[in-house]
Amino acid sequence: MPARTIDGKAVAAAIRVELSNEVAKLRASGVVPRLAVLLVGEDAASRSYVTAKERAAAETGIQADIHRIDGSGDPRDVEEQVGTLIDGLNADPAVHGMILQLPLPEGVNADGLLQRIDPRKDVDALHPENQGRIVIGQARFYPATPHGVQQLLVRCGADPGGKHVVIVGRSRLVGLSLAAMLVQKRAGANATVTVCHTGTPDLGAVTRQADILIAAAGQPQLITAGMVRPGAVVIDVGVNRVDDATRKRGYRLVGDVDFDGVSTVAEAITPVPGGVGPMTVTMLLSNVARAARMHRSAGAHGN
Ligand code: NAD
Repeated sequence: MPARTIDGKAVAAAIRVELSNEVAKLRASGVVPRLAVLLVGEDAASRSYVTAKERAAAETGIQADIHRIDGSGDPRDVEEQVGTLIDGLNADPAVHGMILQLPLPEGVNADGLLQRIDPRKDVDALHPENQGRIVIGQARFYPATPHGVQQLLVRCGADPGGKHVVIVGRSRLVGLSLAAMLVQKRAGANATVTVCHTGTPDLGAVTRQADILIAAAGQPQLITAGMVRPGAVVIDVGVNRVDDATRKRGYRLVGDVDFDGVSTVAEAITPVPGGVGPMTVTMLLSNVARAARMHRSAGAHGN
């Protein structure tokens, strides 16, 4: 029997309904959740991600302000300009969440700028304080993509509790954060987690042990049917452009998993597009609502 397709669009839509209700309550109490998006330079993919975030925010009642910065000057001047903008947004009580869209132009130091964002407004959860909090089980925010993966699993009948989860990829943004989340002793986690990376000698020998296999390597079709245990749940985080002369834009998007082959072996699988992607924006917006709620509670207690 072919694998069940996990419909990320449908799960994301359900979460957005819950989120819209939460935002409506915040608005009724006088708080308009507000996100500042810093877009530096002219990266085409970044521009389209930012447009998607702006649209999704509007649909859920969250105010999103896009701050565009010309990234073409001396990298040190660009850093100074972005840093000053971050300082201003940190100090603005009407702004609850802030994201610095990556990648930044060549030579601009992303780490320094990410660390300048007030951790209470860091809705991408990339500040070292927020990353550390995830590791010790005291998360303020979860990064959007790992959180989206976790919610997909929980809401699609594949709770990670007690399962062996194998993650391919160790980036801060996805693999490492997800591993730190799923290993915690809490509902929707409590998994035995193995993280694979470019230093893993025999990838298939490890991935074949997974009850839940999560591919986040950025390598088209890296995971083939022979690398998957029959009956496993497979989550494909990868988004890769491959040339395709039959498409008007000259390329198509594929994941890290050979969908057709792996579908013959797995119990359930996410498609690309339409799997993890729609969850990412949704979980980001959920962090903005959370930041607004925390801001309101802090205000109520006079700090
Ligand atoms: P990254 O390049 O920062 O990290 C990739 C990781 O995969 C590295 O840790 C590397 O060690 C590992 N890796 C690479 N090739 C490997 C191989 N052959 N064998 C084993 N491990 C290997 O990438 P990232 O930011 O973590 O993103 C990963 C993928 O997820 C990309 O395709 C990216 O576009 C996609 N992504 C999707 C979303 C979404 O919303 N769907 C969000 C973020 C990232």
